[in-house]
Amino acid sequence: MAGTLAHTASLSQLQKPAWALVNGELVDYADVRIHISAEALTRALSVFEGIKGYWNYEGDVFAVRSPRRHYDRLCRSAALLRIPVTFGYAEFLAGLASLAGRLLVPGRDLWFRPTLYVTEGHWGEGTRADLVITAFTQQKDDPDPMRLGVSTWRRGPDVSLPARVKCSANYVVARLARMEARRLGYDDAILLNPAGRVAEATGACVVIADRGRVVTPPTGEGCLDSITVDVVEQICHQLDLPFERRPIERTELLSADECGLAGTITELTLVKEIDGFHYRQTGILAQVRKRYLEFARGAAVLPGVDLVPLNPVQAGRAAIR
Ligand code: PMP
Repeated sequence: MAGTLAHTASLSQLQKPAWALVNGELVDYADVRIHISAEALTRALSVFEGIKGYWNYEGDVFAVRSPRRHYDRLCRSAALLRIPVTFGYAEFLAGLASLAGRLLVPGRDLWFRPTLYVTEGHWGEGTRADLVITAFTQQKDDPDPMRLGVSTWRRGPDVSLPARVKCSANYVVARLARMEARRLGYDDAILLNPAGRVAEATGACVVIADRGRVVTPPTGEGCLDSITVDVVEQICHQLDLPFERRPIERTELLSADECGLAGTITELTLVKEIDGFHYRQTGILAQVRKRYLEFARGAAVLPGVDLVPLNPVQAGRAAIR
């Protein structure tokens, strides 16, 4: 289907899947509960990840991208908020496989949202968290290039709400920015950092292509330490495209040849315009996007980037291929 909005992924949140996984146990989705006094609610204490699994082109192997990196980032976010993590990587991966075993359907990819909700404790005393994994099916359609606005809302500095921590609280400002953008008729917003340079979009990082170079801001500019951007970097190496991480000023963003948003759900989605400034589309980011999807669907290999089949039977088949 053409004409899909680039942000369709957010619509997946309106799905009501049959199952969720709570601390390793499959639970009826409608029965997942949290107490009103949990610190997850009273002090917004939850950290999460978004992990995407893809069917290969043949439709016989379902594999998740970079699950180890997501596990490690979840642990780092939790550690920074002093939330104990009581499960290892093997358990985490088994959890994804168990939920996929119930929710996976042929021809539809899955996006997993593992969240650590603080359910017990008070101001850091006796903190305990539940690991809840939910998953939502995803469309495979190509999104249309996006129209964005630069938000009046900004990413805060590291000393107030660190962008490096993937916690729900960070999405309060992102939500305001996205609502502002939608009100103005845009698909999404770009948030600047306190210094007025590019931080990130509401749920993805910003990548520009200018005069043959691919550039993205480093994490210290106020963006999440994006796993997708690391994949984009690998692709650029493979395609012999110079790749740089350095601050990007607003005028550089608006005058670049191309712009794209990179994130696990967003993959690498092209941007058509920002605040009425139109991009030229020189084909660089489209080339990177193409390779990204070939990789995700098992048709290209990227050194150092994992695509882990979830089902042991599929894993056996994948090894034979
Ligand atoms: N920034 C924000 C605010 C995000 O929510 C995401 C999506 N997780 C990203 C950047 C991109 O990160 P990743 O590539 O690891 O998904």
